[in-house]
Amino acid sequence: MATKPEDLHLFFIPFMAPGHMNPLIDMARLFASRGVRSSILTTPLNYARFRSTITRDVQSGLPIQTHLLTFPAPSETRLPENCENVDLLPSRDLTPLFARALSLLQPQIDHLVRTLSPDAIVTDLNFPWTAEIAEKHGIPRILFNGSCCFSMALTTAVYQVLPGVNVSSDSEPFLVTGLPDPIYVTNEQLPIRSMRHMNLTEFFNQMREADGKTMSVVSNSFQELEPDYVVHYEKQTGKKVWTVGPVSLFNKDFESKSTRGRKSAIDEHLCLSWLDSKKPKSVLYVCFGSLCHFPNSQLQEIGLGLEESGHPFIWVIKESDSGGLPDGFEERVEGRGLVIKGWAPQVMILSHGSVGGFMTHCGWNSVIESVSVGLPMITWPLFAEQFYNEKFVLNVAKCGVGSGVVRGCDWGEEENIGVLVNKERVRDVVSWFMGEEDEEVKAIRARAKRLGELASETVREGGSSYENMGLFIEDLLSKKRERQNL
Ligand code: UDP
Repeated sequence: MATKPEDLHLFFIPFMAPGHMNPLIDMARLFASRGVRSSILTTPLNYARFRSTITRDVQSGLPIQTHLLTFPAPSETRLPENCENVDLLPSRDLTPLFARALSLLQPQIDHLVRTLSPDAIVTDLNFPWTAEIAEKHGIPRILFNGSCCFSMALTTAVYQVLPGVNVSSDSEPFLVTGLPDPIYVTNEQLPIRSMRHMNLTEFFNQMREADGKTMSVVSNSFQELEPDYVVHYEKQTGKKVWTVGPVSLFNKDFESKSTRGRKSAIDEHLCLSWLDSKKPKSVLYVCFGSLCHFPNSQLQEIGLGLEESGHPFIWVIKESDSGGLPDGFEERVEGRGLVIKGWAPQVMILSHGSVGGFMTHCGWNSVIESVSVGLPMITWPLFAEQFYNEKFVLNVAKCGVGSGVVRGCDWGEEENIGVLVNKERVRDVVSWFMGEEDEEVKAIRARAKRLGELASETVREGGSSYENMGLFIEDLLSKKRERQNL
C-alpha cells in the first residue's frame, strides 16, 4: 500500500522552451528532494542543457532520472535539423510545425507510461494530448501552467467580458470585472492578439478538452504573493491549485544557480567577480527573456539610455543581435556596464547583493525569480501574457515601475515594431529607479524586499509552498491507494 513519498513515481513532461523547461525541471528536482521518484521526459538536445544539474542531483542521492525521447526526423516534421527547442527555431512561423512535431512524441510517452507505470503525469499546458495518455492508463494528469494565478484568472475573465466590451479603439482600456481587483486592459495587450498569426483555435479547443481530464494544477507561485488569485483561479477551474514556488529557490549554491537552464555565454566566475566589484544594490540587470529579438533601432535606444543613466548595469542580448549595439558602446561603458551576448546566469545574477533592480519583459519566470530575491522591477512587456504579468507587478504586488510600453506586438514580430521606448525614457526611468530614492521608489523597494522575505519563508519547512508540496504528495498517494484498492 502506498504510504510514503518513496512509493510515488512521477513523470514530468516539460515543453521545450526555456521559460517552460527551467521551472518544471526545478519542480521535478523539488519532488525528488522530498523522496518522490521523479522522471523527466525530454529529447537529447534539451537534456544536454540540464544534464550536469541532474548528474549532480543523482550524485547527491536524489531519486531523479531522465528518459530520452527521439525527436522526429526532419522528413517527418518538415523542420530544419536539430530544432528541438523553441529557441532553436529559425523563424516563429515554424511554431505550428514544432507543436505538431511534439505531438508525434505521444506514442513514445505512451510506451514509457505502459512500461514504467508512473503514478501521475505532470505536464506542461502545451501538451493537451497528454490527457489521452493519462486517461488511457488511469493515472492523474497534473497541469503545469507556467504562469501565475493572477494571469490565468485574468485570461479567463477577459474571455468572459470580451463579448460585451464596447471600445472605440484597440488602445482604449476596458475594465475586466469579476476579479478581486479592478483590472483594465486594452485589445492591443491581449495575449491572443500577439499570437493571432498562428491560428490557435484548434489548439485551444484541445486544451479545454484536456482540462476536463486534469486532476489538479501545480503553479510556480506562492500563496502569500497572490492569495486572492489562488482562490479565484481555483474557483474558475474547479480544481485544486498547488502553489509550490518559487521553484528557482531550489538552486541554492553558486554552481546550480549559475548553470540553471544551460551553460552561460559568460564565464560565471568572471561575472561573479564583476558583480563583487560593485556597490550593494547598485547594478540594474536588463534581460528580455529567452525568445525576444529587438530591432537594431530599439537596441540602440536601450544602449544609449543605459549609458546616459550613469548607473552600473548588466545587459543581456541575443548573440545574433550583437551587431545592433551602438558604435563603440562597450568601450565607452567598460567597467560600468557588462554586455552578455547569449545566455546569462540569470538566477545567480539576480541573487547577488550588488543587483538592485531588474528591467524585465515580464515573462512569469523572470518576475517570480525577481520576487524570490526581493528585487523590484522596471517592466517592459512585449507579447503573450506579459502585459498581464506586468499588471500583476504594477497594480497588485506593487513591486515595480513601468517603462511606458502600452501595446503588445506579435510574437516573432518584435524585429518589425521599431522603437517602443526611446533612450530619453530609458535614461530617465533607470535614473529615477536606481538613483537617489524618492518616496515612491522607496515604497516599491520596501514591498519587493518584503515579498522576497515571504518567498524565502514559504519554501522553508513550515512555509506554505513547502507544506503544499507535502499535502500534494499526500493527495497523490491517496489517489494511488484508491487505484490499488480497485
Ligand atoms: N534565462 C536565463 N538566462 C538568459 C535568459 C533567460 O537564465 O539569458 C532564464 C530565466 O531565468 C527564466 C527563463 O530563462 O527562467 C525565461 O523565462 P521567462 O518566463 O522569464 O521568459 P521567456 O523566455 O519564456 O519569454
